[in-house]
Amino acid sequence: MIQVVWFKRDLRTTDHRPLAEAAATGPVLPLYVVEPAYWQLPDTSARQWLAVRAALIELSARLTALGAPLIVRIGSVTQVLAKIHAAVGIGRVLAHEETGNLWTYGRDIAVRELCLSRGIPLVEFSQTGVIRGARARDRWAAHHGRFMSLPAVPEPPRLEPVPAAKVVDLPTADMLGFADDGWAPARSGAQQPGSRESGTRESGLELLDSFLGGRGAEYRRGMSSPVSAAACCSRLSVPLATGAVSVREVLQRVYAVRQQLAAIPPPRRPVPVTAVQSLIARLHWRGHFMQKLESEPELERRAFHPLHEAARLSTPPDDPKLVAWATGRTGIPFLDACMRSLIATGWLNFRMRAMVQSFASYQLALDWRVSGAKLAQLFSDYEPGIHWPQVQMQSGQTGINTPRIYNPVKQGMDQDPEGVFTRRWVPELAGVPLQAMQTPWVVVGARQDGYPPPIVDCAAAARAARARLTAVRQTDGFREAALEVFRKHGSRGRRLDQDDPRRAQTREKIASGESQQLILPF
Ligand SMILES: Cc1cc2nc3c(=O)[nH]c(=O)nc-3n(C[C@H](O)[C@H](O)[C@H](O)COP(=O)(O)OP(=O)(O)OC[C@H]3O[C@@H](n4cnc5c(N)ncnc54)[C@H](O)[C@@H]3O)c2cc1C
Repeated sequence: MIQVVWFKRDLRTTDHRPLAEAAATGPVLPLYVVEPAYWQLPDTSARQWLAVRAALIELSARLTALGAPLIVRIGSVTQVLAKIHAAVGIGRVLAHEETGNLWTYGRDIAVRELCLSRGIPLVEFSQTGVIRGARARDRWAAHHGRFMSLPAVPEPPRLEPVPAAKVVDLPTADMLGFADDGWAPARSGAQQPGSRESGTRESGLELLDSFLGGRGAEYRRGMSSPVSAAACCSRLSVPLATGAVSVREVLQRVYAVRQQLAAIPPPRRPVPVTAVQSLIARLHWRGHFMQKLESEPELERRAFHPLHEAARLSTPPDDPKLVAWATGRTGIPFLDACMRSLIATGWLNFRMRAMVQSFASYQLALDWRVSGAKLAQLFSDYEPGIHWPQVQMQSGQTGINTPRIYNPVKQGMDQDPEGVFTRRWVPELAGVPLQAMQTPWVVVGARQDGYPPPIVDCAAAARAARARLTAVRQTDGFREAALEVFRKHGSRGRRLDQDDPRRAQTREKIASGESQQLILPF
């Protein structure tokens, strides 16, 4: 019996249950399908493909060493599976469940229907601890905690190959027809395979080791500023997005280190326990957010709250405000610095992601779907299950979170007090003194080398946004609809794991200014 192990966002051989189950039963055909239609979507990009491609090269070498090389095909998964079935007869298909975007959701339904129509058993396994199609949040945290505490699945000792399966090369980004999205890894030196931002397992394990071995010492203090965050955050998001490392493996390693730290006197600990706790909290948020899109895949297109959906804004792709925001030319220095840094590196810290999204939706009154897709393209770590719920939350669309309208001038002063980051990414401001770095428009006659004036008055635009929000929140039926959103998606306030009391996490979130706790606005 030929068993196809279909790889998607799980490009690894360890903690890979479909591969282990197949290996224990008979010949294995490890398959990855490069889907050109996916890579042409408005939320996908060349930089994401480069991260995936690096992980595939590494996976391919590992599978070859185990005895069954990776078979890569280009096209639609249904057509590829139908062809393989016609040629050799597939005994069963094994895969991980994927919480992807709406397109992959539809693709997965088509694959299920194909398998059903051809009588091919399709066996799917969870890999992130989210519950397939869950309709409400009751008992979710306990389920998630249990999944994360199950032992990671060991790599199979060897694989029995399917004879005569033809191996083809992986396409380059050019071959997939990517438009030039301004991504020049060779020049920027970022996100290259082998660099710390690449999507490979090797880089993921190295990042985890370096974080726990000392790099994470300043995590809590440094995560909010773009000056320090790139160095002291874990940077695991890309290998987690490609699936080169599983979130369960990472969590279990972090739990083990937390235990070891308890036996070391505090001054000699390479990282404080609080940093490890903060990482654990965020790895749990990952599942918490992914469950939202898993439960309602339409959240990529439709607001959580129906009254926010009814008040949706419309933004054409050539809207000048959108273009200025997306290219880092709004005339608001810290905001532009963040966008330009993201364009060059493919990564931004959490707080600055929240700020750029919030500014697009509030002060610039852009449709979150359009700005959200633009950000997704710029993120090498695009993870739809985190991304779309976060985009909505930072755009005030959920109805159950306290809306936060970031002020980029204040953020610039707080997070980049020396102006180092702003000067680096907005060199036009070299002639502007530090006191006016975040408000160069107040300096009459200072040299600004073609830097544009601000496209909005930040304070007036924030006031207008607040008025829009209030109007929606005061509409009849808002509260009832918000309760329904809470029932489906809200955290139940349980302990996320036995040793990690939720109350401590909440205190920490508030203290770090990253409060994302779910609060009903009434
Ligand atoms: C508008 C917006 C869009 C985002 N889109 C994405 C995305 O597409 N992909 C993505 O991985 N993250 C996304 N995030 C969450 C977060 O900003 C990134 O996970 C983080 O900055 C990645 O860097 P890191 O791996 O060093 O994070 P660390 O701080 O080291 O955290 C470790 C891991 O925890 C998870 N995590 C961290 N913060 C969050 C959070 N707030 N919510 C859920 N999970 C979290 C991630 O998997 C991350 O890799 C988004 C946040 C916002 C505000």
